[in-house]
Amino acid sequence: MKKRKNWWDFLWIASSVYLLLGIFNILFAWIGLICFFIPLFVAIFGGGKLYCNRYCGRGQLFELLGSRLKLSRNSAPPKFLRSRWFRNAFLAFFMTMFGLMLFATWRVFSGATLQETVTLIWVFRLPWEWADTSMVKPWVAQFAFGFYGVMLTSTVLGLFTMVLYKPRSWCVYCPMGTMTQGICRLKHGKERPDGAAVKGSCGSVEGSCQ
Ligand code: SF4
Repeated sequence: MKKRKNWWDFLWIASSVYLLLGIFNILFAWIGLICFFIPLFVAIFGGGKLYCNRYCGRGQLFELLGSRLKLSRNSAPPKFLRSRWFRNAFLAFFMTMFGLMLFATWRVFSGATLQETVTLIWVFRLPWEWADTSMVKPWVAQFAFGFYGVMLTSTVLGLFTMVLYKPRSWCVYCPMGTMTQGICRLKHGKERPDGAAVKGSCGSVEGSCQ
């Protein structure tokens, strides 16, 4: 029998619309903070990996594109990708770049010129001059440009690994997933070197997110 769909099964639409809205007006990027804070709150206040397993629209989008539309080669991701050291190193790198983005926002707050570009994969600066940001202070716009770059970069990396490996291979090294897994591990139990939780309600990186 076909499983009845719940409203959260359609959150992939919200993720897709979010990316489109950012093209229309970069200020919509601020909405993405929801995807940053909610998984942490859920993990901290006892929901474990519930956000990843149920509410993450991005994970659903990769699943949909990779499995249903068959855009994924569906092969196992390489071992290093799921190793703890790589996930932690990627999280550290990601958070460093996030910190630099916040620093750029602070510089604009302090009087530096607004950079109307979106940086993709931390290297490519895409011009984004059509965005009308005149209704907000420059630092508000600068954060939006930076944060949209973060969201776009993670989506592109996710799509890339989706095509190469299993649909949700991004989830294996997703910084949010690593953080929530870490919180879970602290609260409920230890983690095996391959990333799987030993006990508690953390689920596993492999189980829910590939
Ligand atoms: S690991 Fe990241 S992309 Fe995957 S479900 Fe969790 S938050 Fe979403």
